[in-house]
Amino acid sequence: MNTILQLHQLDKKYGNIHAVNQLSFRLERGNVYGILGPNGSGKSTTLGMLLNVVNPTSGSFQWFNGKISTHEALKKIGAIIERPNFYPYMTARQNLELVCKIKEVSFSKIDEKLILVNLFERKNDRFSTYSLGMKQRLAIASALLNDPEILILDEPTNGLDPKGIQDIRSIIKLISQQGTTILLASHLLDEVEKVCSHVVVLQKGKKLYEGRTEQMTQSFGMIEIKTDKTFEEISKLLQNYSGIDKITNEPDYVLCYLNQDIDSALLNKFLTEKNILVSHLRKTKPTLEQRFLDLTE
Ligand code: ATP
Repeated sequence: MNTILQLHQLDKKYGNIHAVNQLSFRLERGNVYGILGPNGSGKSTTLGMLLNVVNPTSGSFQWFNGKISTHEALKKIGAIIERPNFYPYMTARQNLELVCKIKEVSFSKIDEKLILVNLFERKNDRFSTYSLGMKQRLAIASALLNDPEILILDEPTNGLDPKGIQDIRSIIKLISQQGTTILLASHLLDEVEKVCSHVVVLQKGKKLYEGRTEQMTQSFGMIEIKTDKTFEEISKLLQNYSGIDKITNEPDYVLCYLNQDIDSALLNKFLTEKNILVSHLRKTKPTLEQRFLDLTE
């Protein structure tokens, strides 16, 4: 069985705030999962519950098919859910040696992980001299020292400059190519789209979507039509046209939402044959942001 984690109606209330609302989803080995949602949608609370630092109000979750205790499962998980913090006066290598001692891992892993996050050349520099991006990369190296089956990251690129963001995203891809499952929380649609194969969209603690990332953002688009007829006449005529899902009246045109890929030339021909004068017909695709807003609205 390839299931790494299963959530069953996991729920967290802070007084009147329903931070996580009956959340269920499943993670399969080898994928990169994103928990996507605006600020306050319950991402960090969810990760906190999965890592045993927040107590659920109700519901449950099972790591690795429930065959081992959560305490044992945590040893197979690498997680960064806070800003990276190491001893500033110690070098990167010394900091990782300390982590190895705590995790009871051989020092031999250190160079391998420093190479992976591209910090090998800087391993003898003090942590205090590191940029924010380097600190985050060191935190990833540290979380990987015990070769976890899954790496959990909360907003991994927060506060980084474009180069730092790109570095982290490339490292995440590299780690996943090596077979490690990844679960990251992000409020950035663009980040999830670029990095994650699968996504769980949260809003106010509730799951809105779960599935492959490209399916969330897939759309057949829309067609704008301007004619000499009224909205009522056009919508009556097109209500049964195959491929048109919904028709709305916009200030400058009638907007047809598509549920399959239709040929705009054929639609034009159809309208012309009905003696309709078409002055504007244009096929458009909604932006990714629009798709996300549609989903979260
Ligand atoms: P962000 O990206 O801003 O961190 P998030 O999606 O991670 O947001 P959470 O931090 O999980 O969301 O917060 C979900 C809700 O629970 C918010 O309304 C938040 O104010 C509330 N919350 C989180 N932690 C606590 C707490 N310890 N006590 C009270 N309310 C909390």
